[in-house]
Amino acid sequence: MIDVILKKGKEKAVLHRHPWVFSGAIERVKGNAENGDVVRLLDAKGAFMAYGFYNDQSRVALRLLEWDETVEVNESWFREKVAVAVASRSNLLADGTTNTCRLIFSESDYLPGLIVDKYADHLSVQVLTSGMEKMMPVIIDELQRLLKPESIFDKSDASSRDHEGLETENIVLAGNHPPTRVEVKENGVIYNINIAEGQKSGFYCDQRDNRKITAAYAKGKKVLDCFSYTGGFTLNCLKNGATSVTAVDSSVLAIDTLKENIILNKIDPAKVTTIPSDVNKQLRKFRDDGEMFDIVILDPPKYAPSRSALDKASRAYKDLNRLGMLLLNNGGLLATFSCSGAMNMETFKQVIAWAALDAGKQVQFIHQFCQPEDHPVRASFPEGEYLKGLLCRVF
Ligand code: SAH
Repeated sequence: MIDVILKKGKEKAVLHRHPWVFSGAIERVKGNAENGDVVRLLDAKGAFMAYGFYNDQSRVALRLLEWDETVEVNESWFREKVAVAVASRSNLLADGTTNTCRLIFSESDYLPGLIVDKYADHLSVQVLTSGMEKMMPVIIDELQRLLKPESIFDKSDASSRDHEGLETENIVLAGNHPPTRVEVKENGVIYNINIAEGQKSGFYCDQRDNRKITAAYAKGKKVLDCFSYTGGFTLNCLKNGATSVTAVDSSVLAIDTLKENIILNKIDPAKVTTIPSDVNKQLRKFRDDGEMFDIVILDPPKYAPSRSALDKASRAYKDLNRLGMLLLNNGGLLATFSCSGAMNMETFKQVIAWAALDAGKQVQFIHQFCQPEDHPVRASFPEGEYLKGLLCRVF
């Protein structure tokens, strides 16, 4: 095994079990490590620190896997990590009302660069590091052994793979090609998922708990669901007795799927208005038309892809939320989210406070949303925390 020597003074993060070592923290590599190899990380004095995946194409040159020198990082190490992650979702799936979730969440499940989502009997996989790419035959075999899925489809995101010098190909890894429509259940609500063509891995299962919490306030209410995608919030609100929901999303495919989901759930289509449009434009139109709502949901895509983009993103979040607040009846609810990892809860609250000031409104935070248990946050890897939201009462 190749040894990689860490620069003096760079030990702290490794000792705190943070799984990333940046290329700038590496003193030298003893020998010819191939990208994706498991290597040994030593401190400047030559003492063992950890085992990790090596990749000189990536800014994160080492992704640490194991801190115990006596534990061999071999096939069974990976099989065990997969099995532990899958088993830890059993509670979530136990009562049979949910059959879709994230089974493996990369670093947060001790498997850097591997994301596996379950859609009923189908799996969608993202492989984002060269190390994990090399291990895929073992990972696929273990997933098949544990879950016997009908299909395992590669849905890797091209831009993330690019950072690692990997090419992208969305292909069938095992079993059949997933059908264009897979029916899944989440908290008893039925969704059609298009694994191959849908966004991200096909469905945003990270909002499972937040949809349920928000919908609990929807009985008898007029709801506006912005960035609706295939109707996660829309369907939950209607199932909970919302009088009407207006769903806005710029993706026509998402809106078409939302309409199918309305039928699947035997909801009266007359209660739903779908608007395939830009949310920012549509909110201004509602404002100009004087259209008001009891609940406004804002679940935009990631506005801040990095820390450096945070200022600009904060202004965009502020403007969006200001417009959302202006459309609320007095005492109405705003359920607002940010899936930008660079935006922490404290900053998000500040942004909402600014939006309220600009809108001439007062806001109470009545609930703080976070990511669900199948997107765990590993204590030594705060970067894994990305989804946050606030349920606000707006006066
Ligand atoms: N709330 C959804 C997930 C939202 S993901 C759920 O519960 O499943 C973000 C969505 O925003 C995507 O569907 C994307 O198509 C949409 N989107 C991105 N930019 C947009 C814009 N400017 N206007 C409207 N929709 C947009």
